[in-house]
Amino acid sequence: MNGGAKTVKEIVIDVGKCTGCRACEMACSAFHAKPRYSSVNPARSRIRVVCDEINDEYVPVRAGNLTRAECDGRHFYQIEGKRYSECSFCRASCPSRDFFIEPDSGLPLKCDMCEDEPPLAEPLCVTVCEAQCLVYRERPLEAAADQSAGEAAERGVVALVQQHGLAAVIEHLQRRARAA
Ligand code: SF4
Ligand code: SF4
Ligand code: SF4
Repeated sequence: MNGGAKTVKEIVIDVGKCTGCRACEMACSAFHAKPRYSSVNPARSRIRVVCDEINDEYVPVRAGNLTRAECDGRHFYQIEGKRYSECSFCRASCPSRDFFIEPDSGLPLKCDMCEDEPPLAEPLCVTVCEAQCLVYRERPLEAAADQSAGEAAERGVVALVQQHGLAAVIEHLQRRARAA
């Protein structure tokens, strides 16, 4: 703890470690069920895993802000012969798709880092991720300006996938891991 000082909470996603088990989706939906843990429904999860079983590639995406209108100029990505829409890796709750929209109410879903009272030691999706693809970090706010790498890493994964393709990003991460 930081004596009441504000902290930045972040989840860094190591996309190369994701196995596509979707335990994170189940845990998130159960945590946000009313009453808590009363049901499991990935459609209510604030994290979704883009799965390509044939190519053994998986990308977890945490829900971000609401977008009231679809964006223009969407791209498509060809990865290992499969065509992905840019929307697949986008964090927005957007009218273009049913990701991150509460199925009964139609309300947008956004990751709230599992806020609870008393607080959890770490977000539930991180706890259930046995592959350690999701890593929780907490640091003082004053350090945030100098240490934007963590948040950038999470945003960067999605941006890199959009720019270079999923297969290239995974290959790069695996090369980095081997070199470390
Ligand atoms: S729990 Fe971890 S390994 Fe499983 S799908 Fe979610 S992020 Fe991937
Ligand atoms: S999901 Fe994202 S990329 Fe797709 S239209 Fe909406 S804002 Fe644009
Ligand atoms: S941090 Fe909590 S609210 Fe956010 S995606 Fe993970 S389980 Fe869901």
